[in-house]
Amino acid sequence: MKIGFIGLGNMGSLMARSLLKAGHSLTIYDLSQHAMQLVVDAGGEAAVSPRVAVKDAECVVTMLPASSHVRSVLTGPEGILAGVAPGVAIIDSSTIDPASVKEFASLAAAQGNLFVDAPVSGGTGGAAAGTLTFMVGGGSGTFAKVKPVLEAMGKNIVHCGEVGTGQIAKICNNLVLGITMAGVSEAMSLGAALGIDPKTLSGILNTSTGRCWSSDTYNPYPGVMQAAPAAKGYAGGFGTDLMLKDLGLATDAARSVRQPVYMGALAQQLYQTSSALGDGRLDFSSVIRLYLRPAAADAR
Ligand code: NAD
Repeated sequence: MKIGFIGLGNMGSLMARSLLKAGHSLTIYDLSQHAMQLVVDAGGEAAVSPRVAVKDAECVVTMLPASSHVRSVLTGPEGILAGVAPGVAIIDSSTIDPASVKEFASLAAAQGNLFVDAPVSGGTGGAAAGTLTFMVGGGSGTFAKVKPVLEAMGKNIVHCGEVGTGQIAKICNNLVLGITMAGVSEAMSLGAALGIDPKTLSGILNTSTGRCWSSDTYNPYPGVMQAAPAAKGYAGGFGTDLMLKDLGLATDAARSVRQPVYMGALAQQLYQTSSALGDGRLDFSSVIRLYLRPAAADAR
């Protein structure tokens, strides 16, 4: 298939590579030349705008930071809707609010295009391995149409319901993730301060009831897991500012239905503090730096 792909950051660049590996041809666009070059080196063709990237596309994928970016890439004068042929499906894999998704779907429908929200879980590791989970919101006909494209990037493709429901699933997942990462950070720092070896404590957590993805795959304590961002100075991965955005999406959505999110609101404040202290672009597991004693935290 000819696919137009917009947004080639930590996640998009790896997802684009999976599509190329599966034999699709890709025309790509990102504001960053550097980000585009990495995918051009893997076989993608660079375009000068989203409009040009999707001109001959049979399917379009976007992977952008937040709603405002999706809005400009979709509706701007050089945007997707200005260039895409009628009938083509647009898959937005960014994590954004469900209300904006519904608005984007109606704008797409008004000119004869299909639109699905298909946010992902699995992180950069899942994106690199092509094993992401996709949470898809859209009509069942549209789901059937986009599924083969998503299968080239993920192994668990779930139809959640109508447009917007993929984002509901994603926001709830990241609410749990933000809270568990803060919890594991708190426990690992406490254990270290009390005198247990962090690797021993990590091993115990991962064979005990405290086990979760934040502890068994992505432990935030430096030096415990070689493949985790904590071992690379928290570079790459999933940015603190993106987690802060997702917890904001969860608390906003909760307010709209008057549903309490006590733990989520506290976690939001932790990531906000971390961002205010200058760690916004680091991986979100760097939230542990709020807890570590100076010697272990590499002194701010
Ligand atoms: P990122 O910041 O690494 O990448 C975003 C890319 O979009 C950048 O390359 C940027 O240059 C590009 N961009 C921004 N505005 C643009 C525009 N107007 N036109 C073209 N390109 C533009 O973000 P990421 O980590 O890849 O995350 C993307 C989305 O996926 C976010 O919504 C995030 O919440 C979600 N997500 C991320 C992860 C993760 O582990 N990183 C996991 C699941 C979901």
